[in-house]
Amino acid sequence: MREKIVAGNWKMNNTLEEGVQLAKEVNEILKKNAPKCTVILGTPFIHLADVVRTVDSKLVKVSAENCADKEKGAFTGEVSAAMVKSTGAQYVILGHSERRAYYHETDEILKEKVNLALANGLKVIFCIGEVLEQREAGKQNDVVKAQIENALFHLSADDFAKIVLAYEPVWAIGTGKTATSAQAEEIHAFIRSIVAKKYGQKVADDTTILYGGSCKASNAKELFAQPDVDGGLIGGASLKAADFYGIIEAFN
Ligand code: PEP
Repeated sequence: MREKIVAGNWKMNNTLEEGVQLAKEVNEILKKNAPKCTVILGTPFIHLADVVRTVDSKLVKVSAENCADKEKGAFTGEVSAAMVKSTGAQYVILGHSERRAYYHETDEILKEKVNLALANGLKVIFCIGEVLEQREAGKQNDVVKAQIENALFHLSADDFAKIVLAYEPVWAIGTGKTATSAQAEEIHAFIRSIVAKKYGQKVADDTTILYGGSCKASNAKELFAQPDVDGGLIGGASLKAADFYGIIEAFN
């Protein structure tokens, strides 16, 4: 049975105090209502160490939202994978469409980040997904295939097992427009099939593939019920503990 995951992505929201408070609230809810999936909080760098100290690590795992594509040194303002790991965080989100679009992160850069994250003992939540014009042109499968091949398919099967994939159609992120459960299932099944071709059916069956894009309590149950949708990467709805728990609860 592959791991089911609900992961939040706070993006650039919350002061340190607000973030610690939110983590505390999520932790309290989960203490009373044991989750039936792995729960991850993806937070800005400044929150990581405090959030790790705030939550019960058996209930909540912690993820960075990015890391540098360089190991260490004169890269002012950057945060390395080793630094992320030293906070106690266990995951890093890489390849988010906002990083690709606004910070020009290419497949080559992402490949370096993936390598450094894995070399430093982090698991990777790797985001892929097409923009609206690509979907309208029917190119979504080609787009996600290239994103996966270019940044991940150099990995050994052992290393690939440390990757969680997150399919996030860019047209659905923060827009209120969710992919239908049928659209999500179709492309998740396709993604699993290309993993199977490269690494074999067992690795593909064990790969967790999350859906992201305007996922909320009202649509999570139907999305997560699809055979190839193993949970969600949640932006806006991860900023309030009750909303986030509403999605976690979809697995109950
Ligand atoms: C995201 O940014 O990863 C995301 C899924 O955002 P939202 O849930 O707000 O669409």
